[in-house]
Amino acid sequence: MGTDFRSDTVTRPTDAMRDAMMTAAVGDDVYGEDPTVNQLEAVTAEMLGKEAGLFMPSGTMANQVAILTHTERGDEVFIHRDNHAYYYEGGAAAMWGGVTWNLLEGIEGTPTPEILRKAIRPKNIHHPNPRLLCLENTHNRAGGAAIRLDRLVPLIDEARSYGLGVHLDGARLFNAAIAFGISGRDLAQPVDSVSICLSKGLGAPVGSVLLGSRPFIDRARIFRKWLGGGMRQAGIIAAAGLYALTNNVQRLEEDHGRARLMAHALSEMGYQVMLPAVPTNMVMLDFPVAVATHAVDHLAQNQVLVGTMGPQRVRLVTHLDIDDEGVTHALRVFRDLSEHIHA
Ligand SMILES: *Cc1c(COP(=O)(O)O)cnc(C)c1O
Repeated sequence: MGTDFRSDTVTRPTDAMRDAMMTAAVGDDVYGEDPTVNQLEAVTAEMLGKEAGLFMPSGTMANQVAILTHTERGDEVFIHRDNHAYYYEGGAAAMWGGVTWNLLEGIEGTPTPEILRKAIRPKNIHHPNPRLLCLENTHNRAGGAAIRLDRLVPLIDEARSYGLGVHLDGARLFNAAIAFGISGRDLAQPVDSVSICLSKGLGAPVGSVLLGSRPFIDRARIFRKWLGGGMRQAGIIAAAGLYALTNNVQRLEEDHGRARLMAHALSEMGYQVMLPAVPTNMVMLDFPVAVATHAVDHLAQNQVLVGTMGPQRVRLVTHLDIDDEGVTHALRVFRDLSEHIHA
């Protein structure tokens, strides 16, 4: 099966995490009676400085429920064109919410206040109602870029001056927090709602949490039910999330260290390494189009699995199931490949 750098979603629960799941107290969460789900929602709300949380089967559902909760049909949602909620969620916001996307540009998946200002149109019968700004931190398509608060706060202030709500896709928010040495709470403070994934670098098998004010979460609970996300004895999987939040946040630094080491070594070998200003647990490589497919196949044949992002870009993600040995093995295969390519 090899060393799997395709994504940090591929981690499998450890024995200790499985023990926590095995012994979790459970009840029917649609009745609000699962103590472990209730605890997970309370713990994440506390960690992120929001009033309430809502356990979700996936990050996609968390983003979609957030959009439904913030908007009415036809409303205009401002988002960078590379953000997950637009790029990777299959048009769901148009299907369920009937919203109008307004796609913005900007470095590392993050618009400037000026870009937002130019996109806002005056209230007028011809224009959709501007309602929501969606952000993402860390930014996946920008190569796991951690986005600094001093870039986000002026943008959020600008959004507020037009009466927009702000939702943050924080699938990897803790990677950003660890990269900056600040808390998840600091990063989530300026936004109205935030979603986090337990199933990425934190290593839980399933689950996300949406956080916001108590009235926001009460309304979100209705949309989650509509989308079929009301789960019963969900404490079994929430227990894995609680275990992950207790044990696997600080260790994200190890993943970042391994990604840093790989980025450095690969660039020494002559690979085109794309690094964001503040990298986290990803390394992106650009190959000449003519060799990209061959390179990915060669890596796979040597038990190094990587992801692709377009015809020439390859993505490596470090995570809980990648150790130093896995990194050493991958670098050996990459060195061999570089001799192939340059021969
Ligand atoms: C993974 C991810 C999500 C949600 O993905 P699911 O697979 O639906 O859990 C949302 N946003 C970003 C940035 C992601 O990387």
